[in-house]
Amino acid sequence: MSDRLDTLCAELSLTAVAHDYATLADEAAKKKLSFIAYLERVLSAEAALRAERSRQMLVKLATLPTAKTLEQFDFEAAAGVPKARIDELAGLAFVERRENVILLGPSGTGKTHLAIALALRATERGCKVRFITAADLVLQLEKARREERYEQYLKRAILGPRLLIIDEIGYLPLRKEQADLFFQVVAKRYEQGSMILTSNLSFGDWEEIFDGNAALTSAMLDRLLHHAHVIQIRGDSYRLRQARQSGLIGGQQKL
Ligand code: ADP
Ligand code: MG
Repeated sequence: MSDRLDTLCAELSLTAVAHDYATLADEAAKKKLSFIAYLERVLSAEAALRAERSRQMLVKLATLPTAKTLEQFDFEAAAGVPKARIDELAGLAFVERRENVILLGPSGTGKTHLAIALALRATERGCKVRFITAADLVLQLEKARREERYEQYLKRAILGPRLLIIDEIGYLPLRKEQADLFFQVVAKRYEQGSMILTSNLSFGDWEEIFDGNAALTSAMLDRLLHHAHVIQIRGDSYRLRQARQSGLIGGQQKL
């Protein structure tokens, strides 16, 4: 009987059923559950396993640099980031509404942390997410163009994810062609899908990143900010502050 069941489970790819049916049957007998209640427990185990696998696959596809959660975020330490606002974003209505989130602030103030934490929330809701730094995005776009698969790349990597996260806008200035490629990404996603962007520079300084091109920068910001939640984080690097608190470096030192 159990051999036949195992074979059937294998044929039907019912991993959790195969693993759990015997234990659940013992439990059901002890608790005098009905056949239907038992069946429901067995199928629930299968459904839970599948949901977990699909979440893991979404996390893998998201290519997050590391795992960070909202629970790990210390809101007291982050001036300009009201917890209520992040909690509201964590509800992910902004993804449904195809709005953008823009996290601005000096280096080390938790922009990437918040972006990753929101990304993880989205994967838990079954949402396809992709995380990339601005520098890597531009490199990949250039490579795709050289290899004559630019349209394909746009379709798969840029328009594919429900939520696209572009981290670290502003660390590297872009050359003219790179700025044009970046603009195309923003134009393609505009009103099509949500983005989370992070930058250490305020919008007034973005022109410098984008090859000093005022027209391109304002056309881009126009699209980005049309439906956007802008969060300006103030203060010192979290790591520096921790190092200072633990006496590793002097109180007056700044980056
Ligand atoms: P940014 O992207 O703004 O440069 P990160 O998000 O990479 O900064 O933060 C740097 C480090 O400090 C990370 O390890 C992050 O988890 C931690 N960190 C920053 N701000 C906070 C915070 N408010 N609470 C908890 N950890 C934080
Ligand atoms: Mg960062």
